[in-house]
Amino acid sequence: MAHLRELLGPDGVVDNPDLIDRYNSDPYGGARGGARIVLRPRATQEVAAIVSACAAAGVGIVPRGGGTGFLGGARARYDGSELVLSLERMRKVREIDIDSGTITVEAGCILADVQAAAASKDRLFPLSLGAEGSCHIGGNLATNAGGIQVLRYGNARDLCLGLEVVLPDGSIVDGLRALRKDNSGYDLRNLFIGSEGTLGIITAAVLKLFPVPAQTVCAIVGVLDAGRAVALLHQLQALTDSAASCFEFMPRGAIALAREVVPDLARPFGAHDYDLVLMEVGGSRDNLGETVEAALAGALEDGLANDVVIAASEVQRRSFWRIREAIPEAIGRLGWIITHDVSVPLSRVAGLTAELQTELTSLAPDCRLAIYGHLGDGNLHVSVLPPAGGTADADNTQARELSRLVLSAVVSHRGSISAEHGIGEDKAQWLQQFKSSEELDLMRRLKRALDPLGIMNPRKVLTQLP
Ligand SMILES: Cc1cc2nc3c(=O)[nH]c(=O)nc-3n(C[C@H](O)[C@H](O)[C@H](O)COP(=O)(O)OP(=O)(O)OC[C@H]3O[C@@H](n4cnc5c(N)ncnc54)[C@H](O)[C@@H]3O)c2cc1C
Repeated sequence: MAHLRELLGPDGVVDNPDLIDRYNSDPYGGARGGARIVLRPRATQEVAAIVSACAAAGVGIVPRGGGTGFLGGARARYDGSELVLSLERMRKVREIDIDSGTITVEAGCILADVQAAAASKDRLFPLSLGAEGSCHIGGNLATNAGGIQVLRYGNARDLCLGLEVVLPDGSIVDGLRALRKDNSGYDLRNLFIGSEGTLGIITAAVLKLFPVPAQTVCAIVGVLDAGRAVALLHQLQALTDSAASCFEFMPRGAIALAREVVPDLARPFGAHDYDLVLMEVGGSRDNLGETVEAALAGALEDGLANDVVIAASEVQRRSFWRIREAIPEAIGRLGWIITHDVSVPLSRVAGLTAELQTELTSLAPDCRLAIYGHLGDGNLHVSVLPPAGGTADADNTQARELSRLVLSAVVSHRGSISAEHGIGEDKAQWLQQFKSSEELDLMRRLKRALDPLGIMNPRKVLTQLP
């Protein structure tokens, strides 16, 4: 430890209990971590030195970005067997290469700062999510974050061309290449993206940049159900050359919860009580506005949409987005019995939504449901809340039964039990139950090959390691 203190400098080791608190926090007040030591390297070589020292001493390492992940992935144990490695001092933008359309950043860069660095060169880095003011690019890649523009630009994995990674033995793999094509062997980069710090520590990345769309049309649409919303999406994409960047579904029940907590939310359709779709379409063609208007007029005629408002100003656009943002905010404040982030093929979204609505209501008739999310990506957030005025007890039989019902339904539709939030510690048991034994076995073999000592983010993603 003395060696690491000397290497990292006076601000590089945090062991004061008052200062350590924020490294043990959880974004929604869930189970806290118990780290007693946090190490804050400034450079890749320092990360490598820490990992080598931990490997020699058999100490577990919990990488931590902005600490906004939902599933306890960045949570350290209380027994002192693990330390937290925070990337927060590694926040340099190493290069912006306009000709290659890339930006190379260190893992501790805050997502909003990467967006701003791109914007300063009149480019777009399109990864965008509610926590963008505090999450780190390393955390985004480690969780393969999604967010609100996946439909057009893909998730974190799709936006990354190269990675620099420190392996569990302390060696550094420099894969910081800005190549759009590279078939020189196995795809090592994608092994680390989405691995939640269990295979190595991401220290830097080459990310893709895009032209900034000349204009963006934002509209809110009243629909009768998820099935019509999916049909509307297909119609919109066909008429706009797939220019939709987001397509968010907000059913009536979820909006009602949001209004309980944020009563002054906009009411785009007055007293009419529709499910809502919030969409944005971006591009540079001259007649984009007219094209979107025509697509929505067609949807009204075809009965896919009941009413439409196209945002006439940035203020109105913000008021539409506020409805969407208020839903998870309300769920967080009202408390949930279960909450899951799942995905199914687009063709199954309507079926799954209807099935969950019926079956969850029958199992927990007094509870309240919110099934909403990034519908364009087949990604639904499913939350069951206690009856109005009731409190949630997360660790009870009902919660397990409800979770089993949701996840079984998702898997029966050939979906995934985690669309964009990962597995962390909190969903590791469910992964064990719902991923095939062959896939789990392959994941364990990879983990053992890269991290035979099991020091990288222990207990996360995979349980039952030897
Ligand atoms: C208000 C709000 C809205 C959100 N919206 C979305 C959304 O729309 N879409 C979405 O996908 N997520 C969303 N999230 C979840 C969260 O923001 C993402 O999972 C984010 O990518 C986590 O980044 P982080 O830097 O906070 O990572 P952390 O929470 O610090 O860590 C997450 C995991 O990554 C590992 N890790 C972190 N950094 C590294 C690294 N450098 N190398 C290796 N492993 C590392 C950690 O060990 C942990 O397992 C939201 C969260 C909040 C609070």
